[in-house]
Amino acid sequence: MYTDVLIIGGGIAGLACGVGLCGNGLRVVVVEQSAALGGRARSWVDRETGDVVDIGPHILLSEYRNMLRLLELLGTRERIAWRTDRFITLFEKPHAVPVRMGRLPAPLHFVRSILSAPTISIADANSNARTTWTAMRLTEDDVQRLDGVAAADFLRGQGVTKRFRDWFWASTAMSIMNVPLERCSAGALLRFYQLLLGHNDLRMGFPAIGLSELYVPQATRRIEADGGRILTQSGVKRLTGADGAPVGAVLADGTRVDARWCVSAVPPQSLGEILPPEWRGRDPAFAELSAFEPSPYVSTYLWFDRKLTREPSWARVWSPSNLNYDSYDLSNIRSGWEARPSVIASNIIYSHRADGMSDEAIVDATRREIAEYLPEAAWSTLRHARVHRIPMAIPCPFPGTERKRPPTRTALPGLLLAGDWTRTGFPACMESAVRSGWLAAEQILAEAGRPRRLALGLDAREGITGLVQRLRRATGT
Ligand SMILES: Cc1cc2nc3c(=O)[nH]c(=O)nc-3n(C[C@H](O)[C@H](O)[C@H](O)COP(=O)(O)OP(=O)(O)OC[C@H]3O[C@@H](n4cnc5c(N)ncnc54)[C@H](O)[C@@H]3O)c2cc1C
Repeated sequence: MYTDVLIIGGGIAGLACGVGLCGNGLRVVVVEQSAALGGRARSWVDRETGDVVDIGPHILLSEYRNMLRLLELLGTRERIAWRTDRFITLFEKPHAVPVRMGRLPAPLHFVRSILSAPTISIADANSNARTTWTAMRLTEDDVQRLDGVAAADFLRGQGVTKRFRDWFWASTAMSIMNVPLERCSAGALLRFYQLLLGHNDLRMGFPAIGLSELYVPQATRRIEADGGRILTQSGVKRLTGADGAPVGAVLADGTRVDARWCVSAVPPQSLGEILPPEWRGRDPAFAELSAFEPSPYVSTYLWFDRKLTREPSWARVWSPSNLNYDSYDLSNIRSGWEARPSVIASNIIYSHRADGMSDEAIVDATRREIAEYLPEAAWSTLRHARVHRIPMAIPCPFPGTERKRPPTRTALPGLLLAGDWTRTGFPACMESAVRSGWLAAEQILAEAGRPRRLALGLDAREGITGLVQRLRRATGT
């Protein structure tokens, strides 16, 4: 089989790449090893209830510019339920702190919420000022320089109190970066912090329909209407090609697909499996794939017999005894579910501590943790439960990995890399995946003589953070 572009992997990165190439006269084939498309951002029907459930609950941020643009192209942007009353609720037994963006310009918009936390003193909040200043001024060079340092050491060195490190930083490292603070790259964490500090009105949104339903059928239709093909249950066994010659792949059933361009939109571990051994020395990125260790998740779905809350989501503050971090009541998120009893989905992040636990034990412990926030959960009836054990949510952003994230182009002509873990300027997430797919499509279109701008950069920072950034750029200091 010959095609202009072979995209390996039908997750959100591969599908975004396929959509980005549409309308340019290039033949596209997407090959996906599973029976279903969507990869780590997919959903399916729960057999017992008939509900569409996601692999695990996912959030979007209003700064997911590439993903929101993809949804706009696909006609589903309006299917995101945005939280408008607050950014997040942080729960630390017995206190729930609503974190709101105040009216002051960023980063002062958070100060009131932080000071309203009963366990955070003014001295704790003040101890974070130096780090906030560092993050406001952060450049990409700083991110790379700080990448080698563990975030916990960095924050200690900056004088951040233990209380503030535990309350804010350890919680953010777990919930957003999916690793403990001690194992998180300071550069990667501070870059995310800059995003928080740089927007006056950052919002959190949730898919109001199943995650796959947001983009999989629409992207499939678009690619197929353009003459492309999407082959499921068609895993790539090995990449093929020679210097300067077309690249391609051999599928598990022995079919050979030759292509002018080949986009690997698979996780680093999968790329390691399909790379011919003789190619490993040909690009520095190929030698670093084992650095990207998976961060596993356990996502538990609990169907209760009554409405337990009107809140869409809340997050537990870091504690060594926590099992779950973020929880979502889908009855307050999904359209048409408003009158239903609570369906609560919770994430055990970097879930090694749950490895030896049975599903029953996970359900019991998750219910106990939910009941700390919503006491009625303890005595209401649990009608149904599901435990999803997920080997990887994202590759761990351990110290040193940010520098190893590869760019789109490889040293092999025609072979391009996409996926959430590649170098996009975002933590590994859906936004990173979409941006990576579009960067690969842009590269192909440029080489095909049909240049087109698809990927959106990070938005300009706002408020005082924006001013500081602009001054730093203008003065070069
Ligand atoms: C439980 C959970 C919660 C998450 N929460 C969030 C969140 O709140 N917000 C957020 O933005 N992100 C979140 N993420 C991360 C987000 O889902 C991923 O970053 C994103 O989906 C990665 O997309 P991708 O296309 O790069 O990779 P993938 O989704 O992994 O897609 C790669 C595809 O390639 C296929 N493949 C692999 N090897 C081969 C082969 N040899 N041949 C053919 N196909 C192959 C795989 O089957 C897969 O479909 C979460 C992930 C999980 C699992």
